Amino acid sequence: MAQFLYRCTTEGAINNDLKPSCGFEMLFEEGSHHCPICGTELLRVSAGQTVSEVLRLGQLRADQQRLQRRDAISLAITGTIKNE
Ligand SMILES: [Zn+2]
Repeated sequence: MAQFLYRCTTEGAINNDLKPSCGFEMLFEEGSHHCPICGTELLRVSAGQTVSEVLRLGQLRADQQRLQRRDAISLAITGTIKNE
């Protein structure tokens, strides 16, 4: 299963002002996660590939191949016409 980068979005001082902000980051499986430092819900910030993203990229490549094939066919037709 894909993993995603999650980041704690807490702003302002935590730990009795020992840190200006949390900034905790960690890779997790997709889902709901909480910061182990301050307990705030983590926000997904990345960049992993979900199943739908992989499918979408595959569709994109198929479309490009179809376009290239169509260009090749029209070129062949044009070439035939020119030769006549
Ligand atoms: Zn935190």
